[in-house]
Amino acid sequence: MNDAPQRLRADKLRLDQLQLALRNLGPNHVLMPVFTAIICVMFYRWVPVARLEVWFALVTLGVIPIGLISHRFRKSVPDASQAPMWMFRATLAYLIFACCWASMAIFLWAPHDDLNHLLIILLLACTIAGNGALVGASRPLAIVVFTVYGTAQSLVPLRESGIIYSGIAVLSVIFVGYLVYMSIQIYRTARDMLLLRDDKSELILALAQAKTESDVARERAEAASRAKSQFLANMSHELRTPLNAILGFSELISSKAFAENLEKHYEYAVLIHGSGQHLLTLINDVLDLAKIEAGGFELRESEVDLKMLIEDVAQMMSARASSGGCLLTTDVARNLPKVVADERALKQILINLLSNAVKFTQGGGWVRAFARLEADGEIAFGVADSGIGIALEDQMRVFQSFGQGRHDVAISDKGTGLGLPIAKGLVEAHGGTMGLESEIGQGTCVTVFLPASRARRKLRVAS
Ligand code: ATP
Ligand code: MG
Repeated sequence: MNDAPQRLRADKLRLDQLQLALRNLGPNHVLMPVFTAIICVMFYRWVPVARLEVWFALVTLGVIPIGLISHRFRKSVPDASQAPMWMFRATLAYLIFACCWASMAIFLWAPHDDLNHLLIILLLACTIAGNGALVGASRPLAIVVFTVYGTAQSLVPLRESGIIYSGIAVLSVIFVGYLVYMSIQIYRTARDMLLLRDDKSELILALAQAKTESDVARERAEAASRAKSQFLANMSHELRTPLNAILGFSELISSKAFAENLEKHYEYAVLIHGSGQHLLTLINDVLDLAKIEAGGFELRESEVDLKMLIEDVAQMMSARASSGGCLLTTDVARNLPKVVADERALKQILINLLSNAVKFTQGGGWVRAFARLEADGEIAFGVADSGIGIALEDQMRVFQSFGQGRHDVAISDKGTGLGLPIAKGLVEAHGGTMGLESEIGQGTCVTVFLPASRARRKLRVAS
């Protein structure tokens, strides 16, 4: 059972209680020598000067330790773990002072003088009442008050015989008992007050934390809502372009503007078909992305031969690459194990990466599809090219829906900016991550890392 936080809270409470008591005792070390001097003058008629001097010196010196402790305590802002040490020091210092002060019952006592005795009993009664209230918040200091002053108060009348002094002794015991009861009430009130103060501070802290969390959540929700609006705006723009082409060309045909020109009809039919095809691809991409982002993409897992898949996709792309004048190669490590994944999804990822690499690499450049086994067991695959690269400030954006680099303006085969977000979503659905390294004019390398748990530990035969 771990009661450390409980103990820490208790220690903090004890320190707070001690602080309250020491704060009340603050003016003590200045006032006590003054009180002692006045009392010495008052008792001058009964007590020899030497004894008065001794008592004065005792009280004046005895108040120094508790004065020093109070001063250091206020300066050092101690933490809860130091509570036992401070309690011990303060209790010892206060015990020294209380014994010095209570020694008036010995040093100032003049035998057979009722006024002298009554004054001493009165002074002790005032001391016990006053100090009981001053240090009542701290239990060890209150115990010192009632043990030292209470004993002195109850025993001192017994130094004289007679019914009056016996009565005073009995009254003193009852008086001390009553003050103990009052001191317990003071202790409880102070404790409840301190606990309430702590609870309030904790509550304020928790409230501040909850507010920060809710601010962060609100900001995130606002960002998501902005992204959604942006997505819709981009979507409508992307849909409108091919739709306008379809409507425009079909209107031209229906208005019989080129009734005599069959060639033109064929040409427009091709353009309408192309726009329709583009629309269909776009809608399919958006649906895929929506499904992936909503977490509704179900992986149909099987053991996939990544080497074969990469070669298939590279084969598919080879015509496009050679017509663009770039060299497309594959580089698959021999020790590559099979991976447990959704083959359709891996193929889609590779197509998206390879089509980007081919699209953004001019004639004379190269594109390489690769796969390897990392030292930590992860499977890494991807595509590197020597193309135009992506500017650093665009590298985050290209993974967002419709996010494209600035250089795309110059590309004839302008896409919609959904290829990379779809690939990223598919990779994440496999528990993997995607890395991008790119430099303007130098080329780009996009790497997919699949977790080691997806590797089937069956070494491939050398290819
Ligand atoms: P889509 O793939 O939807 O047809 P797209 O290719 O423009 O359109 P993404 O595949 O998401 O969209 O790529 C986003 C952007 O990232 C591209 O527009 C391009 O600016 C940049 N990009 C991606 N791959 C490369 C690359 N290999 N070289 C240079 N830029 C790249
Ligand atoms: Mg693309």
